[in-house]
Amino acid sequence: MDIKSIIKRAFFYIVKGVPVYNTTAQIRYMNPSKKLEGKRIIITGGGRGLGFSMAKKFTNEGALVLIAGRNEQTLKESSQKIGCQYVVLDVSDVTSHVQFLYKAEELLGGLDCLVNNAGISLHEMDFSAVTQESFDTQINTNLKGPFFLTQQFVRRIKELQKPASVLFISSETGETADERPYGWTKAATNSMVKGLAYRLASDGIRVNAVAPGVTASDMTGLKEDGNLYAANSPSGRIYLPEEVAEVASFLLSDVSGCISGQVITCNNGKTINARWK
Ligand code: NAD
Repeated sequence: MDIKSIIKRAFFYIVKGVPVYNTTAQIRYMNPSKKLEGKRIIITGGGRGLGFSMAKKFTNEGALVLIAGRNEQTLKESSQKIGCQYVVLDVSDVTSHVQFLYKAEELLGGLDCLVNNAGISLHEMDFSAVTQESFDTQINTNLKGPFFLTQQFVRRIKELQKPASVLFISSETGETADERPYGWTKAATNSMVKGLAYRLASDGIRVNAVAPGVTASDMTGLKEDGNLYAANSPSGRIYLPEEVAEVASFLLSDVSGCISGQVITCNNGKTINARWK
């Protein structure tokens, strides 16, 4: 732990009475039980970060996984590490979705699940720093792209007349007010998850989301093997992609067959608006 973090922790302990937490993440993993055996799963933005961890976890659970993203070299290296398929995709290019799904179905030998994970946050300072370009890029990547990819996925699943599952990677920011596009895309995602789940329930298609708290990845610039301490987190630390992958794997498995339209927030209750807060 660096000196800045030690001073910060001491401040919170002495001045605010906040207990000093152990910032080591003690994660419990469900043993691979092959609960995704045979499921054919597409993960957008699967080359790194949360998407990569999910691809690894799902493969360990017996799934056939295909990761999709913009950088072919990253996809190639990641797919070799995991032992999965890949296809290049810019999710914001909605004209490419039909062809992408056709290719994915061919490589996987079918389709069972779609994970809308690809996303960007441009971390604008505030409302005044949002540009038309940053607005469009975040809406197109986080909202428009996943919406239309899901539309095409559902259309194909209905043709195949089989059960399926769609998982969105939302965010804890979707549960708080934000004046910048990233937050709204996640708030809108949460609404979309519920609406879609209700619409598609009788077709045997489940739709859920995980909403991670601050997690180590390129998006946050926080390292898994770095300092995990986070003063404003109830757990006292940031989260790891593997923790999110565990929850995601449960939501895609048949074990959670009675769950749809739910947004499972992975932040130890940080965004609960308790009356006594
Ligand atoms: P990351 O930047 O490490 O990974 C994002 C992935 O999405 C990358 O592989 C990137 O290439 C891909 N991507 C971006 N734009 C794309 C596009 N147009 N087409 C295809 N792929 C594209 O970030 P991450 O933290 O792993 O983020 C994954 C998801 O988790 C995002 O939706 C993000 O909003 C969400 N999330 C992250 C955190 C966090 O703290 N890391 C918290 C809450 C939610």
